[in-house]
Amino acid sequence: MPRYSLIAAIVLAAAIFLFDTLTQFDVAIAVLYVAVVLLSLNFTGRRGTLAVAAICILLTLISFVVTHGAGMESGAVARALVSLAAIVITTILALRLAATIAIIGESERRYRTIFRSTGVAILEMDFSALKARLDSMRSDGARSIEDIVRDDPNFVREALGLMKLVNANDTTFSTFKAPNLEAFRESLPDLTPKEMEPSILRMLDAIWNGRTNFESEGVMDAIDGKRLNVLYTVAMPTDRRALDVVLVSIMDVTARLEAENGLHQAQAELAHVSRVATLGELTVSIAHEVNQPLAGVVTNGEAGLRWLRRPEPDLGEVSASIERMIADARRASEVIKRLRALSSKATPQPTSVDINELVQDTLTLVQREIASQHVALRLSLADGLGRISGDRVQLQQVIINLIVNAIQAMGAMPVGYRQLAILSRAGEDGVVLEITDTGPGFEPADEARLFAAFFTTKPEGMGMGLSICRSIVEAHGGRLRASSPASGGASFEFSLPADKEAA
Ligand code: ADP
Repeated sequence: MPRYSLIAAIVLAAAIFLFDTLTQFDVAIAVLYVAVVLLSLNFTGRRGTLAVAAICILLTLISFVVTHGAGMESGAVARALVSLAAIVITTILALRLAATIAIIGESERRYRTIFRSTGVAILEMDFSALKARLDSMRSDGARSIEDIVRDDPNFVREALGLMKLVNANDTTFSTFKAPNLEAFRESLPDLTPKEMEPSILRMLDAIWNGRTNFESEGVMDAIDGKRLNVLYTVAMPTDRRALDVVLVSIMDVTARLEAENGLHQAQAELAHVSRVATLGELTVSIAHEVNQPLAGVVTNGEAGLRWLRRPEPDLGEVSASIERMIADARRASEVIKRLRALSSKATPQPTSVDINELVQDTLTLVQREIASQHVALRLSLADGLGRISGDRVQLQQVIINLIVNAIQAMGAMPVGYRQLAILSRAGEDGVVLEITDTGPGFEPADEARLFAAFFTTKPEGMGMGLSICRSIVEAHGGRLRASSPASGGASFEFSLPADKEAA
């Protein structure tokens, strides 16, 4: 093409020159040089076009001198000037045009590069048949996509058949394991499983309502049968109301989702391990907690037997002993039940929880630890707090962790100075629980680090406790914060939103 344009330009320029020089017509033949300038756009750049324009101007002047010599006839001068002006104006316009073409070419190239090399599957689709079908249904009285699907449950499938694939990039083929465009086009309807239909339905609704873009997630199948989790967007340009050019981009997030699930799994395992580790630390207290009622059962049993073996058995005392035995046995079984829940791997189960009750329950597991470390406990639980919704075991784990941390922190303090305060109060939209100790506290700059996984200052520490506490509280829609005033001590407080259903 550039070669032919070059030859055509030379031939044309020569013809105009000869005609202009050898004939005596009263017309501005040299104006035709504009065609030469325009042709030059095909074979040269900006400088070349300027050079071609200069040659054309030169040829015009030579013809003028050869034809008219020194005798300046005014008509001829005017004709020559018109020709020169035409060449100059055309050159300016041609250069502008060339610049615009270059910009468009560049953006087209950029688009092609993105289209080809991006990690996202991009499908160029033609929805005009679908749009026409929807329009005709609308004029037949359909009021919404919901209406249409109610009348014809197969409509989603029909709609899928009306979406024509025009082109797709390489990522599309690699994502869907398609050998080429044809194969992909043929299998496309089968790659959209039933589970994807609700999402397609929402997309149809977006089209019905004239929206220009739509975003959703869903599942699709690759040609080799692998199930893909996808995020996709549909862009419907405003200037193409017939929807003949629609860009659908599809991102395969299967691997990311799998990684996320793996992470959750690992986190859950870790939470379990740390819970069991905390329980390990509390074994002595817990053993005592269970042992005490068991010892009570034995003592009361013996006393009951003694009353029975008397020459005149005192049945009143016997039944009182048995009642005390039953109460003791219940206490022991309660403690064991709580322990089992705490060490079980059960998935979180939200129930309606009274935070004060939960604190009291939890204290039975750590009370002995508190006593053996000579910690004075101050309990200040507000009355009339609303209930919150949450998983008892997880929330108990948070409270235990915070109390055990507080007790451990105060281990460095002289015995008379160890005070643990647990305070509940109404918060902005729920309840707040505050656990404060009189330990050494921490540097304010360390506040964020405390909650990072594996941050620990204890020789045997895992550094997971606070990180898990925070994720549990946040999963409940609450916040966990730490503060340490200059006067010493540390205070951990968490808020939990009210149980809307119990309210
Ligand atoms: P671990 O107890 O295994 O170290 P945590 O995540 O529970 O893990 O705690 C991380 C760190 O936060 C602790 O090592 C300690 O330095 C600091 N910390 C936690 N609770 C307190 C507290 N009540 N007072 C002072 N420092 C604390």
